[in-house]
Amino acid sequence: MKQAMLAGLIALMVGAGAAAAATTWETGGKTMGTWYQVKVAYTPDQALDGLKNEIEQGLAQDNTLLSTWRPDSTLSRFNGYAGTQAQPIPEGMALVIRTALQVAEKTQGAMDITVGPLVNLWGFGPGGVPTHTPDAAAIAAARQQVGWRHLHLSERDGKAWLQKDLPSLYVDLSTVGEGYAADRLAALMARHGITNYLVSVGGAVVTRGKSASGQPWKVAIQQPTDKQTRIEAIVDLQGHGISTAGSYRNYYQRDGRRLSHIIDPASGQPISHHLVSATVIANTALQADAWDTGLMVLGPERAKALALREGLAVYLIIASDNGFISWQSPAFARYLVGATAH
Ligand code: ADP
Ligand code: MG
Repeated sequence: MKQAMLAGLIALMVGAGAAAAATTWETGGKTMGTWYQVKVAYTPDQALDGLKNEIEQGLAQDNTLLSTWRPDSTLSRFNGYAGTQAQPIPEGMALVIRTALQVAEKTQGAMDITVGPLVNLWGFGPGGVPTHTPDAAAIAAARQQVGWRHLHLSERDGKAWLQKDLPSLYVDLSTVGEGYAADRLAALMARHGITNYLVSVGGAVVTRGKSASGQPWKVAIQQPTDKQTRIEAIVDLQGHGISTAGSYRNYYQRDGRRLSHIIDPASGQPISHHLVSATVIANTALQADAWDTGLMVLGPERAKALALREGLAVYLIIASDNGFISWQSPAFARYLVGATAH
């Protein structure tokens, strides 16, 4: 079985059977500081000319909309605007923000797209790693600038409007951008009449239909180790989106602490519990990507309780003294096609 690596997830390609009528067309590359991948199981009568170009143009548009690393993006311009008047924003950005705010509400602010000042303070923003650990005063000052309730999304004249009641509010959509971009790639496939595809951007994946082998696409959740190919569980998404958030790859060590790029807005500090990976399957990759971050922040016990309360399809990996413990919500079971015993 061949494997293709994604952040936290692996697309499994079951060897093409001799009788399969379809072949795999695939492409990939870099976007949003991560990798994207598109696989299409197609029959020779399908014309895929120009698809690569459209994929790259679509991803470039997503970046121009949502990147905080680009000063000229629509999001950066909203962040740079130091006023409190409502600003018209494109529908794509409104969708991402609406989803993020809904999950913020449900996670009591664990998922918070205004957390940027804290992310930057801890060295995970465009500025890079700081020379010393932020002190309590610096954390308190950054926390004054954070809070999703300062952000207001509304509809008027058929348009979406975004308003901040704190002029310095800084909106960071990097945790949901991958899910949004994966959904947009899926929509592009649908516009081309493509019904059998796997698309992924970073840790977010959407699949529809079957791979060239005639079997449903399979996506593997990786074990949270630096050895990227250890498989934890295998799922068939059945047309849904999946996203994994993890604290095990993007971090640095400082003063004997392992500092993750996921920040708990309640403490202003990088998360410090034993939940190392949270995977969510939802109707869209965007929803999954918003939830996985919130669950990662909440930690194992609160994440489990919320998954049960909301009926979410969730797979958690928790570090213990002797390896990892996994937990899945009842709603996850219908997607699971294989798992590694612990
Ligand atoms: P992963 O790399 O595990 O897939 P993401 O890239 O999806 O994670 O999200 C991590 C990014 O989200 C961080 O680099 C930071 O910009 C942002 N972030 C950190 N903490 C939070 C939070 N509590 N709510 C929303 N976004 C956050
Ligand atoms: Mg996420």
